[in-house]
Amino acid sequence: MSRAFNFGAGPAAIPLEVLEEAQKNLVDFNGEGLSIMEASHRSKMYDDVHTEALSLMRELYEIPEDYDILLLQGGASLQFAMVPLNLSLGGKAAYADTGSWSSKAIKEAKIQNIDFDIVASSKESSHNHIPENITFADDLDYAYITSNNTIYGTQYKSFPSTKSPLVVDASSDIFSYPVDWSKVDLMFAGAQKNAGPSGVTIVIIKKELLNRADESVPSMLKYKTHADNNSLYNTPPTFGIYMLSLILKWIKNSGGIKAIQKANEAKATLLYDAIDNSNGFYVGHAQKDSRSLMNVSFNIRDKDADLEAKLIKEATEAKMIGLKGHRSIGGLRASIYNAMTLEGVQALVDLMNKFADENR
Ligand SMILES: *Cc1c(COP(=O)(O)O)cnc(C)c1O
Repeated sequence: MSRAFNFGAGPAAIPLEVLEEAQKNLVDFNGEGLSIMEASHRSKMYDDVHTEALSLMRELYEIPEDYDILLLQGGASLQFAMVPLNLSLGGKAAYADTGSWSSKAIKEAKIQNIDFDIVASSKESSHNHIPENITFADDLDYAYITSNNTIYGTQYKSFPSTKSPLVVDASSDIFSYPVDWSKVDLMFAGAQKNAGPSGVTIVIIKKELLNRADESVPSMLKYKTHADNNSLYNTPPTFGIYMLSLILKWIKNSGGIKAIQKANEAKATLLYDAIDNSNGFYVGHAQKDSRSLMNVSFNIRDKDADLEAKLIKEATEAKMIGLKGHRSIGGLRASIYNAMTLEGVQALVDLMNKFADENR
């Protein structure tokens, strides 16, 4: 077997131990005689998996009892619409625009004719930083941020304080650091970057927000429907939730979220140091104080597209894949989510150093 180091932005790397555990159980789940994929979502066999995913998440992520955890479908992108549908009371909302995913969320608020402000934007500097001192009014229906900007490689170091309910799109950094829940009222994430395969969307929501949705909101789009039914109103993405439970066990076996955060810091430091010590050969996209620990976006000096393509080619030949930057900023992007190993980052750094020496 020869596995590549997968630096892709999403769907992204999954820990080998998790894949092997799933493989072991794929055909005959714990001696039950069938795959978890074939099991009824009303069976005890599936219910144990579902319950374990929820309870492990609450334990490891230290989610307080006054929050519900929902396991939905439709991706993070459906949350862009569900947030205004469920949280708007006809008053004002506010968004911080820190990249393409925030902009897409804003687009959905527009479609619903929500009254909202954009209180901060990094658009003028091609989203290379998180604006400082973002302030949200205290009487908003909700305030909205994107904790990690997957494309531009920027990340909040702490969340803004506001009395308004704070909504956080954490699709690309969920489970990568402990969350201060006193600041967050709703967090959502598509699973495919840091929490398993695509198909599951995690929503962690303060219970007091569940009753806001208008009667006219379709049942499937109401958070309350899913909260009242333990995320079993209809058939949930059972296999993805099983994988999520394995990811959570892996986090637990790795020492928990704090240990994962430490490992993430070590990986990111290694990579950013390689950029900073390259005498200008590599140029990071994000300003230093906004750098993401999850997505490292960078160019080669003067945005030399030929050299960038050459580096991507050499990396691919060395089984380091998924490094092409998003088309909006070009260059390279190394996504180093929880599942990326230090060994993988070291291999990339070694290649980058050698490449810089050979092509200066
Ligand atoms: C990937 C991503 C999304 C989109 O997720 P889907 O599940 O494909 O809808 C939204 N927000 C952020 C921050 C992302 O990284």
